[in-house]
Amino acid sequence: MTDETTERLEPEYRPRKYVSVSTLTSYSRCPRKYFYEKNGLRSDSLQLNPTYGSAMHEAVPVALETEDLELSLEAFLSIWTDVEKEIEIRGIDPKKHNRHNAARSLQHFIFTHAGRKSIYKLQPPPEGGLERDETTSPYEVPWAIDIGERVPLAGRLDGICTHRDTGEPWVWELKTTGMYLNSQFFDAHEMYTQNLTYALVSQTSLDVPAAGVIIEGMLVHDKKVDNQCQMIPIQPHHLEDVLLWLQRTTRSLLEGEEMYADLLIKHDGDANAAALAFPKDFTGCTPYTHYYRPGWRCDFADLCRVPDWRALSDLYKVVPDHDFLKVTVEGGDVKQPNVN
Ligand code: SF4
Repeated sequence: MTDETTERLEPEYRPRKYVSVSTLTSYSRCPRKYFYEKNGLRSDSLQLNPTYGSAMHEAVPVALETEDLELSLEAFLSIWTDVEKEIEIRGIDPKKHNRHNAARSLQHFIFTHAGRKSIYKLQPPPEGGLERDETTSPYEVPWAIDIGERVPLAGRLDGICTHRDTGEPWVWELKTTGMYLNSQFFDAHEMYTQNLTYALVSQTSLDVPAAGVIIEGMLVHDKKVDNQCQMIPIQPHHLEDVLLWLQRTTRSLLEGEEMYADLLIKHDGDANAAALAFPKDFTGCTPYTHYYRPGWRCDFADLCRVPDWRALSDLYKVVPDHDFLKVTVEGGDVKQPNVN
């Protein structure tokens, strides 16, 4: 969280020691967008949705285990209370992201999952895995795999579960979303890089033969509550396909970083000249070229309109680098996936 009274951080590119699937997805869509993000630039440093989602990731496993609203809300507030202070300081009125709506959503979640209504049961992480950060949900599974590139691929699964009726294992992912939980939402999770990678990791590195990913969607809305889950089966041939994509994209990203470092030296530290190492992909700027949501426009369009992106970087907040996966990478073995 940013303290507005502290001195502004300067955008600075931070090379990486590992890659995550979300990094590779972002890089794939537009290398320049990835570059701006890696400089720490954000359109607003107070991003309510990711933090609200993190708080729900704490609360939902408690709701599943205890079926107790008070305990679930307590878990939610263990993360959310700090954000509430920031919201108060800024005088924001978060219509959707607040403790009242969280309580309503958790109540509905418990109602729809209590007893044997839930089609899955969360399982403890597989033994012998990486060290877990004690502050996160006990069902979270950190992982790191060697995909044959210079840095490991690392991440965290929200959990592993078993199907209530068949007993077969599935990867479990909780998604908080402002989108209605209809086929448009769930279809977007088929052939999605994150889910394919999670299936690859579970089947090859965690030795959990997951049939696919169970997506638990939770609506974040100021008037409605809803949650639904959908099973996304993963086809075996997609594991090979996603591994190839992970390798190729990681290589391209690392080449971009190397070129950036070389160009910085060549141009005497000029981060605008060196940014050419991360080309602009104009197919990602607007919905017209990207077949994306109507009205969508890239957050960084202003930076790409001017000859030197640094000229307008003051329009953005700069957030410090997070250590989301530090524990994952440093916590234990990096295994190699075997998709054959
Ligand atoms: S405006 Fe277009 S080119 Fe620029 S970062 Fe966004 S997607 Fe990439």
